[in-house]
Amino acid sequence: MARRRQLYEGKAKILFEGPEPGTLVQYFKDDATAFNARKKGVITGKGVLNNRISEYLMMRLHEIGIPTHFVRRLNMREQLIREVEIIPLEVVVRNVAAGSLSERLGIPEGTRLPRSILEYYYKNDQLNDPMVSEEHITAFGWATTQDMDDIVALTLRINDFLTGLFLGVGITLVDFKLEYGRLWENEEMRIVLADEISPDNCRLWDSKTNEKMDKDRFRRDMGKVEEAYQEVAKRLGILPEAGIRDLKGPELIQ
Ligand code: UDP
Repeated sequence: MARRRQLYEGKAKILFEGPEPGTLVQYFKDDATAFNARKKGVITGKGVLNNRISEYLMMRLHEIGIPTHFVRRLNMREQLIREVEIIPLEVVVRNVAAGSLSERLGIPEGTRLPRSILEYYYKNDQLNDPMVSEEHITAFGWATTQDMDDIVALTLRINDFLTGLFLGVGITLVDFKLEYGRLWENEEMRIVLADEISPDNCRLWDSKTNEKMDKDRFRRDMGKVEEAYQEVAKRLGILPEAGIRDLKGPELIQ
């Protein structure tokens, strides 16, 4: 099979040209980075698991009417997605204090927040993804007020739904990061969920023991990183007993 043309390589994923116009293939790597790529490593099998976990969560979100870029999983490490114009924002939702919120504001990690808090970061590695407000976002034209209304509404629905979904399998959804894109269809623009949802961009704690089951194990050198990602997949019911090698997806036919 002819190698597809690579369009972009990010820290954890590669984007290739898709089989039809308006589609892309998203390839999940095992590479892991933290602290804006100052810490680098490999989490064996992470790409396979994140591909599967993100597929599962995007499909569940589609079922409740959340528009996403996801089309279908192609194989162990690749999924077919719709090509969108990425809005240069990282939208973070927090339910429990952790990470940068705890550090900046001195709120102990694990404190349940009085309500879900949304934060926005401008996607720019050179600037270290600075936190911005809706004022910056609309003033600099990264998104319009209408885009932001859609993004907030979608994000709150996603948070409620995923909080319940994870709680059902004994996991607390502490916080997570989403990215959105603009999808153009017959002169009409829709905001859709893009990127991925996986333990790379969620904080997931065991709801009984508060044990971390996400990328913080890598960021903080806690060990058992692969096992944590596998456990998330297992609890979601998408990891076959035989392990990740058993996860066969249909092969891409071009
Ligand atoms: N996050 C992410 N990518 C980033 C920054 C944060 O996916 O570039 C996720 C992170 O995994 C966590 C949430 O967003 O689930 C909040 O992260 P935080 O602001 O606490 O930053 P961190 O402590 O990860 O630097």
